[in-house]
Amino acid sequence: MCTLSIIVAASLILMLIIYLYLQAKEISALNRKNRTLEKNLASLDHQAKFIIQNDMELKLYQNAVHDKLEKLTFLKNFIGASINILDRETLFMQLNKQVTNAIGFEKACIFTFPELEIKINVGLNDAQLDAFADFINKHHTAIASLSQISSELDVASPLKKQLNFEDFLVGPVITGARIHALFIVFQSNISGGMTDAEKEVFSILCMYLGQCLDNITSFEALYHAGEELETRVKKKTFELSKTLTEIKKISKLKSDFISSVSHELRTPLTSIKGFSSLLVAEKFGILPPKAKERLKKIDDNVNKLVDMVNTLLDISRIESGKMEVKLAPSDICLLARNVTDFLSPQIEGKQLTVHMQAPGELFVYMDKHLIERVLINLINNAMKFTPLGGTISVSCRREDKKAIVSISDTGYGIPPADIDKIFQEFYRVDNPMNREIKGSGLGLSLVKKIITSHQGDIWLESEVDQGTTFYFTLKVVEDE
Ligand code: ADP
Repeated sequence: MCTLSIIVAASLILMLIIYLYLQAKEISALNRKNRTLEKNLASLDHQAKFIIQNDMELKLYQNAVHDKLEKLTFLKNFIGASINILDRETLFMQLNKQVTNAIGFEKACIFTFPELEIKINVGLNDAQLDAFADFINKHHTAIASLSQISSELDVASPLKKQLNFEDFLVGPVITGARIHALFIVFQSNISGGMTDAEKEVFSILCMYLGQCLDNITSFEALYHAGEELETRVKKKTFELSKTLTEIKKISKLKSDFISSVSHELRTPLTSIKGFSSLLVAEKFGILPPKAKERLKKIDDNVNKLVDMVNTLLDISRIESGKMEVKLAPSDICLLARNVTDFLSPQIEGKQLTVHMQAPGELFVYMDKHLIERVLINLINNAMKFTPLGGTISVSCRREDKKAIVSISDTGYGIPPADIDKIFQEFYRVDNPMNREIKGSGLGLSLVKKIITSHQGDIWLESEVDQGTTFYFTLKVVEDE
């Protein structure tokens, strides 16, 4: 019994030992696990701290980016609103409290440099402005060489204390190669001093202001040049219109004079002409041959004088608008052919060949009687100034809404220096050939007046010893 009890007790003790052993093993395994967990926990804690720190940095960075973006957007809008300002004072006035605050500062001022005239003042008292002006004056050389914004002026620290400002930035506003103004901003409105964004935006603003001032200078130069030009044009126009009035006055005096002289001459000339014709026709008795010969010359010259006086009267009548120009549709080709036919005896007499290039019909608005005189004058001149055996060409063609009539010859031509004066009254080219050829120098003047009264143009091309071509235009009658 006792033995059994001992065995049972020993078994129990063994089982207890085994149990304890197993428990100890489990505890040691749990301890190991626990240590590993603790380690992991420490690492997790470290990571969490790291994440929190990163998150804070990210937030700060995000805030900085957001701040920068906000300021840049403001700057963009400010530039958009002020880019077209063409006046310095107005430009400076834009830099008000709102702008100062929006770019991140509480106070600001602008001084012109080197005059130190205050252009804007946002929130500074007189003592602060004076102290700053003093500071700029004392450090003129250092400031004059500023090429970018600065807070580092080595002389600035005492001033900061004196002005009772934590911080300030000085920005040079550069136009051309010199500082035009100093833009100064004070006290960041973010605690902890000025941010990079504030400095960057301020620097851009200073550069932009310089650019604007350059633009204003260029605009002013351009504007003044334009104004000067306008004044000069106005002066010249005034002078020209004065000269034109003078010319018109003189021209009127001249045509009045010519008109009255021609009138006065016409009556005695008609009487002389009457008597000379009767005398030449021997109505007052037979004349000795020599007297008759001389009288014939007198009669010829009287005829020329009558022609001249009549032409002068016609010129002054057209000039003064007293001659009625009756414009009516008429065929210019037919008229050119008829006039050439009418003059053909004289043309043939001078052994000249005629080329007629006026086929069919071309209706224009014209006073037929006056245009006939134009054609007679021009073809007569072509005959007069072309040597024997030459050629005369008459042509009519249509170009757009105009008829262009031309009369060319292969004659002596007109020197370039005379071409401009050829339509003046009494103007004749002065050369030995011309002196032989009779004329008054009035024909072309009348021709030009007639064409002008038809709102047409007249011009010529000529080459000495090659020939001359006169052109004139008339308005074509359009088909309905
Ligand atoms: P006139 O023939 O009576 O001299 P015009 O006024 O008709 O007067 O002509 C003026 C001048 O123009 C002429 O004297 C002549 O010198 C020059 N002229 C005109 N037509 C021609 C031409 N076809 N060829 C050369 N010279 C011409």
